[in-house]
Amino acid sequence: MNLFNKTVPLTVIIGIFSGIFIAALIGVTIPLAMGFQGEKVISYDEIAAHTMAQEALRLAGSGSTEEEAFRYITLPGVQKYDGPRLAQTMPIETKEAWLSWMSRHRSDDPAFLEQRWNWAQNLIISSELKRPEDVRAFLLAPREHFVRARNRGLEYADTWLPIGYGATITDPDVVSMMTTTLDLQPEESVLEIGTGSGYQAAILSYLTKNVYTIEIIKPLYIETDALLRDLERNFPSYSVINRKLGDGYYGWEEFAPFNKIIVTCAIDHIPPPLLRQLKPGGIMVLPLGPPNRQYVMEVIKHEAEDGTITLSRRDVYNGLGVRFIPFRDEKGASYSTPLPQPIQQQSRNTE
Ligand code: SAH
Repeated sequence: MNLFNKTVPLTVIIGIFSGIFIAALIGVTIPLAMGFQGEKVISYDEIAAHTMAQEALRLAGSGSTEEEAFRYITLPGVQKYDGPRLAQTMPIETKEAWLSWMSRHRSDDPAFLEQRWNWAQNLIISSELKRPEDVRAFLLAPREHFVRARNRGLEYADTWLPIGYGATITDPDVVSMMTTTLDLQPEESVLEIGTGSGYQAAILSYLTKNVYTIEIIKPLYIETDALLRDLERNFPSYSVINRKLGDGYYGWEEFAPFNKIIVTCAIDHIPPPLLRQLKPGGIMVLPLGPPNRQYVMEVIKHEAEDGTITLSRRDVYNGLGVRFIPFRDEKGASYSTPLPQPIQQQSRNTE
């Protein structure tokens, strides 16, 4: 067939050539584009599957590339830090002296100050707050800003509270016991797993300016990040809270090793990456145990001269169980082994 014969319409010839050109373009550019993402593409089904996986990851909230993940790291840098030094100057001997100091130095809502004082006294009486540094941190941290709006009136209640997304702001007793156990010194660094409401991180920021915290739930991370940015204007200490969206199981390699690590979600083993990122002599506090009950454990890492690592463990509540929300991976699955199902009793039909 002579293609240039007038009997074959010109539009058909153009159609055939542009078809070949488009097919060649798709055949070269799509595999090339996928190649840049490190994927080997064999078929168009794989391209579709890859796109779906990318979309699922995007919806699940985890960045699939480093740039994407980077957008969810906030390293605020030290603004006008009012941490340990500020805390030192605060009188805590009497309620009157404290109230008068607070009204001169801080912009807290006075309606909450009295509640906060009485609440901290109870934590001292129950020995959950022991060191004066920790008492000061509790007296400085405005819990009313971290408890979510739907729980108004319960800001200083002695209980955990929901903060949405299946997460909770931890019971103040447990926050104080875990903080006391950390024995945080001003020059030390601390990594928190499970930013949640941001309250525990706020407490830590009055004890050291090297605070790192990781949250895995994207909308919760964004909400708390915005809250901390907002609060920073009145509470400059929060400018030292470095925060990241990600899976805390793997710690934060870039800033490791840490003197102290606090895990605020439940797990049945010590995550090996966290143990590696703990300095020798460092303390990790975590709720350790099966999914239905955990024990708040203090784990101290010892390194012998020959490099042998040993751990000493202490149950800080002497056998009293607690219940934290699960330590999960990016797909939402718990890192703990599920409890065995009770064996179903075979019921004999006696009729
Ligand atoms: N410290 C928080 C407590 C939040 S509850 C506070 O003071 O409010 C525990 C938090 O751990 C939840 O927000 C949960 O989303 C988070 N979490 C669970 N698994 C995680 C993981 N793998 N990495 C980081 N955070 C995790």
